[in-house]
Amino acid sequence: MSDEVKVPYVNENCIGCWACVAICSDVFDLDDEWKAFAKTWMDTSNSSWIDDAIWACPVNAIHYKD
Ligand code: SF4
Repeated sequence: MSDEVKVPYVNENCIGCWACVAICSDVFDLDDEWKAFAKTWMDTSNSSWIDDAIWACPVNAIHYKD
């Protein structure tokens, strides 16, 4: 198992449905324009909830940075 920390980001496809925030509010939040963003300053090493948020996003807007 790698100790590499995967950092998520949200692209411009976000429609502000809130699903990722509901699933993983430690990492995701919505900005003033109802676009989600990843709080990349948070510890994202426990990424199981992030994977769930990626799966739940209806427009496939969440990815990991390379
Ligand atoms: S689940 Fe996807 S569409 Fe919904 S707020 Fe999060 S990034 Fe945006």
